[in-house]
Amino acid sequence: MSQSRLASCIPMPIEHRALINVVEKAKDWALMHGVGMRDKKQFSKDAMQIAPFVLLPSPFPRTEFNKAVELQPILNELMHKVSHDDEFLQHTLQNALQVDEFTASLYNIWTKVREEGVTQSYSLGLFRSDYLMQLRDQNRIKQVEFNTIASSFGGITSFLPTMNRYVLRQFGHGELIKNMPENRALSGLCSGIIEAYDLFGVPTAIVVFVVEEVSYNICDQRFHEFEISDKRPDIQIYRKTLTEIHQEADLNDKKQLIVEGRPTAVVYYRAGYEPGQYPSSREWDARLLIERSNAIKCPSIHYQLAGTKKVQQALAVPGALEKFMGSGAATSRVRDIFTGLYSLDFDESGEKAVEMALADAERFVLKPQREGGGNNIYGTEVRDALLRMRHSRERAAYILMERILPPLVAGYVVRPGGPVPPPITDLVSELGIFGVIIGTKDKIISNKQVGHMLRTKLADANEGGVAAGLGALDSPYLVDV
Ligand code: ADP
Ligand code: MG
Repeated sequence: MSQSRLASCIPMPIEHRALINVVEKAKDWALMHGVGMRDKKQFSKDAMQIAPFVLLPSPFPRTEFNKAVELQPILNELMHKVSHDDEFLQHTLQNALQVDEFTASLYNIWTKVREEGVTQSYSLGLFRSDYLMQLRDQNRIKQVEFNTIASSFGGITSFLPTMNRYVLRQFGHGELIKNMPENRALSGLCSGIIEAYDLFGVPTAIVVFVVEEVSYNICDQRFHEFEISDKRPDIQIYRKTLTEIHQEADLNDKKQLIVEGRPTAVVYYRAGYEPGQYPSSREWDARLLIERSNAIKCPSIHYQLAGTKKVQQALAVPGALEKFMGSGAATSRVRDIFTGLYSLDFDESGEKAVEMALADAERFVLKPQREGGGNNIYGTEVRDALLRMRHSRERAAYILMERILPPLVAGYVVRPGGPVPPPITDLVSELGIFGVIIGTKDKIISNKQVGHMLRTKLADANEGGVAAGLGALDSPYLVDV
């Protein structure tokens, strides 16, 4: 085994006939337990197809996994503080706002809401911190990004380990199951919504999920609905697009968000994180209406702003973490998960970053202030983009990030419509840890790590978005290295 690889949980390749047999079983298991998605090509509300998944759980170093788990409440609190520091957000985002209309629109809503007077001081965060292992740094985890809005796959990946365990047993390796950590992400995330609901304290109130026009990743949203309904039969959930909210919702004199005649306790955004989800000014008006209301927002707009790449970069500037966390051990642990992050603002450090990246472009990734995958710039295009933007203000909308190069793992990715058996491929895994936080500027009343997800992509793909069809859902198999 070369050092650039982590050994798979069982020896590979797997014998042809056994592999076909287990893949067929796993596909049915997936379909019958909601490891699914809607078909983008032939959409039907009556049908589901498997979500892409990795047949066997992928190895992940136990110490790094535990580190990520332990860090989550610390990161939750950090991001909570950041999002309540108006001055820091303003200072950090000011240059990007000049050139990035989307972030500017979010920021304007935040400004308006503050001018009018914030009616709901509590925020609910259902966060996910994402990591890749850095091969040249002994596979230590490095943070890819911190998601503060619509952090997905907590639902499906809570069931996936059960499938991976089943698969291990089918291959005669049930004894390995002990190395797969429990994952209760769905339960934890939904408890956050319920806790916020109770905090709102109005028995007739509802929960609104803000959704896209068409939800391909429907399982991952419905699981939350079913779970909440199981835990709390009294809570009704309505799914609404921003367009529908514009048409149907209003504020009453108590600033309650009234939807179908009932006040809204919690608004959980599963859409609203990318420009395409605001096709006209109506959707922006709907967003403003929600933010002005006294519903508890998940996330409130300042959480969303704190989740920008620009904030991630600003937190890596020397002294920034200390400002929020002091200079104890936790601060060094957080700093340790940062990889090189550089501003591209028009100042001395920005110029230096441009020079550095032009000299060795493939060492870096260029990231705009966007979520949802498919927006970053990699490889030789980094150089082209920098040459093009070098003297244009557009450059301030991006950050420069050191590229993380993770170890490879061999595995089988099962895809809808894919070959059976699938070919053995080189993969890389990205770990996401879920966190829940509830609090006001001055008081945090709940702060937890609640579970994880693993998303694995082909080693030569830049990105691994599952909904985008590039990555596959996976479960960690903890190894001692
Ligand atoms: P998004 O908000 O679009 O999800 P991310 O920062 O998570 O943006 O980037 C998308 C994907 O690109 C990640 O899931 C990861 O696969 C890849 N990626 C992002 N940053 C890096 C990096 N610094 N090094 C290597 N891969 C990266
Ligand atoms: Mg991401």
